[in-house]
Amino acid sequence: MVNELQTLVTFFGATGDLAKRLLYPSVFNLYKKGYLKEHFAIVGTSRQKLSDAEYQDMVRTSISEGQDKDQVEGFLKHFSYIASDVTDAAGYAGLHDQIEAASDKFGVEGNRIFYLAVAPRFFGTIAQYLKSEGLMADKGYNRIMIEKPFGTSYETAEQLQNELTTAFNEDQVYRIDHFMGKEMVMNIAPLRFGNPMLNTAWNKDYIKNVQVTLAETLGVEERAGYYDTAGALLDMIQNHTMQIIGWLAMEEPKDFSDVAIRDAKNAAFSSLEIYDEKGANRYFVRGQYEASKTVAGHVAYTDEPDVPKDSKTNTYIAGELHFNTPRWEGVPFYIRSGKRMAAKTTRIDVVFKAGAFKFGGQQEPQETVLSIVVSPDAHITMSMNAKEVSDNFSTQLIDLNWAPTDKQKAETPAPYERMLHDAMDGNGSNFADWHGVATAWKFVDALSDVYAEDKAPLFPYDSDTMGPKEADDLLAQNGDAWVFKG
Ligand code: NAD
Repeated sequence: MVNELQTLVTFFGATGDLAKRLLYPSVFNLYKKGYLKEHFAIVGTSRQKLSDAEYQDMVRTSISEGQDKDQVEGFLKHFSYIASDVTDAAGYAGLHDQIEAASDKFGVEGNRIFYLAVAPRFFGTIAQYLKSEGLMADKGYNRIMIEKPFGTSYETAEQLQNELTTAFNEDQVYRIDHFMGKEMVMNIAPLRFGNPMLNTAWNKDYIKNVQVTLAETLGVEERAGYYDTAGALLDMIQNHTMQIIGWLAMEEPKDFSDVAIRDAKNAAFSSLEIYDEKGANRYFVRGQYEASKTVAGHVAYTDEPDVPKDSKTNTYIAGELHFNTPRWEGVPFYIRSGKRMAAKTTRIDVVFKAGAFKFGGQQEPQETVLSIVVSPDAHITMSMNAKEVSDNFSTQLIDLNWAPTDKQKAETPAPYERMLHDAMDGNGSNFADWHGVATAWKFVDALSDVYAEDKAPLFPYDSDTMGPKEADDLLAQNGDAWVFKG
């Protein structure tokens, strides 16, 4: 059943790439599905001067291909626009009036969402002005949606957090990590908590290790300016990988509310071991891609346009995390992410211990794996020991598989649609909590410090491979191996 959501969303950065490419089509989908009907309004603002009609034209262009014309026009009536510079307090008075007028026109009582689709340096400033210039509703809710990145270190993240909390409480802050809105990432909880068989086994007694892989085949492309300051550690590990790990490592929440989920994740994050220089060298491997031996034109990272020749930026990171809780004692959580790898994939592999029962055949029971493949080709596979089809009693691994149909995939909401819906609905389950973000930064900062002082080797790897050999050795030291080999 579809419940109408009454809301007024203000998009800061309304003329930007994110708004046009992802946000407006998502809001339109919510309208088509009936979540948004009469009582909603969208106010756009950015520095650019546009009339309401010009703004509606812009939104029309971003959503209308192949859509019902009348529906598009009905939708666009809810959009209005005002130019303002977010750094100038004076501009907020006009925005205030625009929001009040749109609220009255569409009968939205309070219920304000402020979506910050602007450069991160503006996040804190906008939050503070929203409060000081009186833009918050005194009825219903006020929520703020924050784009990534949330800081560039623990220190900057904490500063941003302090600025936000002058105006908003934690339960009003929706920090976006679009990986959390992906269908298969959202499948971790139902698989874990919906199946007593798995839930009972989700601990050190049955799980040998957990692996999270976020591999890209692309190189740095046109993002060298940003990427060379971030590397894989900040670009993929601090945010997406750690958020996925949160679902895997968390304790069982007392119910499926967002508060209980955040509490359960925070309990796990609090137990994450932070490494010093010795730990960074023992448990982490950083790499940088060299030219490809197989694909022409795949040059070394340092030969990419705009990358300094002497860059030591990590384009690959693999590591082993430890959660010091009774549940996870001695269970390594392996993570890896890199550019120019042999395959593009986002996946989770949970390796279960092999049973001790002896059948006496040539092949005895082996470790089994639950694989949750997020993309591409989302699917879930669980391997099991079964009898080999032969006249002796050896065992073999068989696979139980599930994948959504093409129709289901086409109907699956895109992450931004889901996140906008959840924020309108007050469900913070799939947003990053400050405690988790803070822990991820502390963890990553400790590694960054070691790398900044060049106190860990930077291992080269050939483009179009699965990374440096040292990342395989990292697992081999524990008698483990990467499940996904490219
Ligand atoms: P963009 O440069 O395309 O758009 C920026 C917007 O901010 C424009 O509307 C611009 O007019 C407005 N703006 C700039 N300075 C302003 C000021 N002083 N006052 C008022 N408005 C101002 O940027 P984008 O790609 O849309 O990214 C926006 C945010 O979303 C960033 O934080 C980015 O990290 C994040 N993000 C973007 C994408 C994406 O695919 N584009 C994906 C994930 C996250």
